[in-house]
Amino acid sequence: MQNKKSTYLAKTGFTRIDLRAVLIDMDGVLYDSMPYHAAAWYEAIASLGIPCTREEFFMYEGRTGASTIDLIFNREYGRDATDAEKESIYRHKTELFSAKGVARPMPGAADFLHEVKAHGLTPVLVTGSGQQSLLGKLNCDYPDIFSPQTMVTAFDVKYGKPHPEPYLMGLKKTGVEAWQALVVENAPLGVEAGTAARIFTVAVNTGPLADKVLLDAGADILLPDMTTLAADFDTIYRNLNH
Ligand code: CA
Repeated sequence: MQNKKSTYLAKTGFTRIDLRAVLIDMDGVLYDSMPYHAAAWYEAIASLGIPCTREEFFMYEGRTGASTIDLIFNREYGRDATDAEKESIYRHKTELFSAKGVARPMPGAADFLHEVKAHGLTPVLVTGSGQQSLLGKLNCDYPDIFSPQTMVTAFDVKYGKPHPEPYLMGLKKTGVEAWQALVVENAPLGVEAGTAARIFTVAVNTGPLADKVLLDAGADILLPDMTTLAADFDTIYRNLNH
């Protein structure tokens, strides 16, 4: 763990870590919603006769819908989708996602948030999601954790992950520097965004991708799930703040 800290300091040029806040992604971290998103994407794209796999949509997590559709269209047809195509495909995907029911809170996430608060740190939500259904659920499933001042959503930023903007906005809203925060992410593009913002980034591999994908994206440490992160949080905190 100490060598992970040394590597981070050498990489960023910072001289210390003094934790004040934890910037937390939503889909795949606080909610077990990614299998629903991936299945909805797969069904929407496959219904057009375009070959694709469920797993590839875990790689695109964090991209905007329009950018995901363009990526698929360029592979299949060698061109971007038109605005009308994007609108129609994204609407279909959203309908398929909603029909799958309510995503359940990720096992271990409530314990993890409790640990964050118990260590005197501010939990901050940083998501590219603008799904009002999930954002509305947040205060029911995780009461008294987040407030509008400690939430960055699709409505707050111009660029999605892997651009660092969402995490930089999280730092700004909280009034802390990059070396005073941790990022918790499950997706390769989210990990890229966290490290591009020069924040120590914890990857939790809650999906089907190989660990290597998250490590190659720049994760400072990798854990298998949120339950492990909750159990190890005190150790991580002590080692980083040491
Ligand atoms: Ca995520």
